[in-house]
Amino acid sequence: MPELPEVETVRRGLLATVLGRRVESVEVLSRQSLAAPRRAFQDLLVGHRLAAVARRGKVLIIDLDSDAHLWVHLMMTGQLVVTEHGRTLFAGGHPSRSMLAPMPNMTTRVSFRLSGGRSLFFNDGRRFGRIKLLSTAELGAGPFLARLGPEPLGDSFTLAGFRSQLQRHRRAPIKPVILDQSVVAGIGNIYADESLHLARLHPRRPAGSLSSAESRRLHEAIRTAIACAIEHGGTSFADYVNAARGQVGYLEQARVFRREGQPCPVCGTPIERIRVAGRSSNICPHCQRAP
Ligand SMILES: [Zn+2]
Repeated sequence: MPELPEVETVRRGLLATVLGRRVESVEVLSRQSLAAPRRAFQDLLVGHRLAAVARRGKVLIIDLDSDAHLWVHLMMTGQLVVTEHGRTLFAGGHPSRSMLAPMPNMTTRVSFRLSGGRSLFFNDGRRFGRIKLLSTAELGAGPFLARLGPEPLGDSFTLAGFRSQLQRHRRAPIKPVILDQSVVAGIGNIYADESLHLARLHPRRPAGSLSSAESRRLHEAIRTAIACAIEHGGTSFADYVNAARGQVGYLEQARVFRREGQPCPVCGTPIERIRVAGRSSNICPHCQRAP
């Protein structure tokens, strides 16, 4: 599933390719992908411009120049692809070979024809992704934003706030705590493993057992891992295309994620795979001592 850095990469790709374009027509190929009546969807979008592209956690929010917002959750296999007269300008989300095929394809669920010959396609092989159409009031009042924790790179993700969350969940292993979207937004399995390795903390350590220095290290590691991934994601149109062609992707620079049996980048000990709170986790047994 794409995590914050991947969704941020999609946001930047959309900013560069569709911002300011007017919606000329909308085609809904799968009702399941849409949490809005098809008629309202057409009426509220057609004729309006895409005025902003924001992100909260792993969700994209595209503002129209009206009271409407498109809320896009890519989930497991969602992709957004932008074309101009049939040529791909940007493709982001779940990397797959079909991302490079002519659009629309078998996995296209919703397509938007935009001004200037551009089109935006929402593809989703497994149909877990969703597009919702919300008014400003609905967006603000919805449970999603209300429950979502601070952005890891934002000023509201403070060390003091993070420490109080660790105390709130003090008996839980640290890994599921940082995966909890109400503690910090946008972290999934990849960046949880990467952050814990960077902070030299075992994922089964009870959250409340972290010393002051350790919680500071983890807070910093989360920010570093996310910032570093976004930086590499900045070029990830090429990465995604390469991944779709079976070449290197953004995981190339991962420290531990999916690196079982390979040497730890710090100490050379082979990376191990364990299960923590039902999730597969990669650790260095030397750098990340078990509790
Ligand atoms: Zn190590």
